[in-house]
Amino acid sequence: MNSRQFSKLVSYLSKNYQIYATQEENGQVVIDELHDAKKAVLDNRLPFYSWKRFFVPECESLFEYDGVSLTPSSREQGKQTVLLGINFVDLKSIILYDRVFAADTYYQSRRNNLLIIAHNFLPGPENNLAHVEYKEENLKQYSFDVFLAAQENSVIGHKKTEIEYRVFAGSEKGEKVLRESGYKDYQRIECLGLLSEDRSGSAMNVFRDKLTNHHNPKIWEELGRRCIECGKCTIVCPTCFCFRLDDTPSLEVGQGQRQRCWDACFYQEFSEVAGPSTGSTGSPQAGSGQAPKFLKTTAEKIHFWYYHKFARIPDEHSITGCVGCHRCYQVCPVGIDIKKVLEDVYNS
Ligand code: SF4
Ligand code: SF4
Repeated sequence: MNSRQFSKLVSYLSKNYQIYATQEENGQVVIDELHDAKKAVLDNRLPFYSWKRFFVPECESLFEYDGVSLTPSSREQGKQTVLLGINFVDLKSIILYDRVFAADTYYQSRRNNLLIIAHNFLPGPENNLAHVEYKEENLKQYSFDVFLAAQENSVIGHKKTEIEYRVFAGSEKGEKVLRESGYKDYQRIECLGLLSEDRSGSAMNVFRDKLTNHHNPKIWEELGRRCIECGKCTIVCPTCFCFRLDDTPSLEVGQGQRQRCWDACFYQEFSEVAGPSTGSTGSPQAGSGQAPKFLKTTAEKIHFWYYHKFARIPDEHSITGCVGCHRCYQVCPVGIDIKKVLEDVYNS
């Protein structure tokens, strides 16, 4: 697919879908509504924020209540949405959302309205994602509708020349938009979203072991002294999807709605539960006035964050809870670098 054919595809999509795409704004790549195909940026730079909010919104209403009667909030029936420019790195996080929210009807209604157009990136002088391996033969393990595989020599760094793509349709929906937009030279593959990482003998297995059975408290105590619990890393992380439930009363007595909103394990109330407080021995301290918490210190919180990504998620979902995007380091005000932490864990 060349740039003229790409413009034709975008023009077809704009008549039938709302399109969000990666675009450049003040030297940064952001995700915004697309009105002109030429503004789409499909290169080796990641958008500052990931695509998470399209799959798991920052806040969503689950149901409204009026006394004891509950009315489910209306599911999104609006215009279908195209997500154009999901890079190969962030594509992995979609497999995780699909597994975690497999039985969640709110997620499923939203997901059915999305058409995913993903792409790879090529080695270049400004490619800081060289550690992420792209293999065309593995594409069917991911989940997308259309995949644009940029061909060698068509991108240099993030300077676009004439970009040529090999095109894959990963679903019936993807095949339909390609066909209806007049593009025929695509390869149909059946995307199964079955990516499963074999950890035996790998570094990931070592992380899992060191984060569970042989965890070295000194690493987390040192990080706990630096971390200020701002939660920025969780906001930008594509694989942080933890949430809290808020009841928001309206002005009418007994009425309101329950919302599901992003939360972060670094925040004070994240692991707080109702009941008598527990002391350092774990025994209840009735009348202390403080609710019990599972994560009390910053060291415990930061250890939990790594444990969740590199031990619990892989155990439950067969893939690592980290796509290697490095966004958490870019936003951390105290410079905690996930690569360095993992090196320390590995060598501990
Ligand atoms: S590198 Fe950091 S921000 Fe990116 S997925 Fe891993 S933990 Fe999340
Ligand atoms: S961004 Fe850095 S300081 Fe803030 S919570 Fe995350 S690790 Fe801690």
